[in-house]
Amino acid sequence: MKKALSALLAAVMVLGLAALAPITAHAATLTANDAASLATALAAAGDNTIRLTADITYNNRIEISTAKIITFDLNGKTLTLRHIIRLFGGAKIQLLNPANGEFNVYYYSDGDVIEVFGGSSLEVTNVEGGDWAMNAVGGEITVYGDVTSMNEGACASGGGKITINGTITTIAPASDYIKVGSTAKTAAQFLTPSTKTGYLTYSFTDSYGTNTVWVKCAAHTFGDWTVDTPATATATGTKHRNCTACNFREDGTIPATGGGGDDPGDCFVLWGKTTTYLKSNFWNWILLIFLFGWIWMAF
Ligand SMILES: [Zn+2]
Repeated sequence: MKKALSALLAAVMVLGLAALAPITAHAATLTANDAASLATALAAAGDNTIRLTADITYNNRIEISTAKIITFDLNGKTLTLRHIIRLFGGAKIQLLNPANGEFNVYYYSDGDVIEVFGGSSLEVTNVEGGDWAMNAVGGEITVYGDVTSMNEGACASGGGKITINGTITTIAPASDYIKVGSTAKTAAQFLTPSTKTGYLTYSFTDSYGTNTVWVKCAAHTFGDWTVDTPATATATGTKHRNCTACNFREDGTIPATGGGGDDPGDCFVLWGKTTTYLKSNFWNWILLIFLFGWIWMAF
């Protein structure tokens, strides 16, 4: 009985603590206007929003190993990280509005500029430098801008995933464009069909999982049009075609096959064709009546 009571008490305490947890580590909006205030904001507990009130260059590594979410409100400013960034243990960094400001990571070293491990994720604007500019080791990286890499480009390993909305540029010395698992891919070696609409898919599955890098399709290569709704004499039809590389769908219309009643040429063409069209077109009937009237008067 005593044992059961203590178990019940323990359960109540655990539930009580769980209820308190969101209060003790509640989300706050912290401001940063220089490297020192940014360091303090990054180290603060809880899922915080860090709002920039000035451009900041940060020369220290960012390494977060706890399961917290940091949201950068860039506020039109630029945060430039001139060191590496490592996220693991469920840490996440996201951008409140990727179009309003930049979070750039520029660092040249022999290792990864960015490393994001399983359960963690990162959103950045531009990335430059590195051996592997980025390595999503089971985690997820989203790049809203461009990637420039010295050696091995964008690397997804351990089942990691990377989405790049800009371009990948490789610079000397020799560089891979993309690496998925242990396999290097050139720009032309994307898979079809794409697994993310609008993006070229570079993927390789190994014992760790499916490693994928998606790069936004810069110029669509459309296949043939497919007719969805054929045009009739009076109604426009619809058609679509897809990019053979990224599955992007473009919709189009097909003009109605019949001409307007004010074109007598149509009447003569239709005369030998179908009477159902004539029935449906008032002005063609009027024209025909005038035509027969004219012929009758003439002869
Ligand atoms: Zn495309």
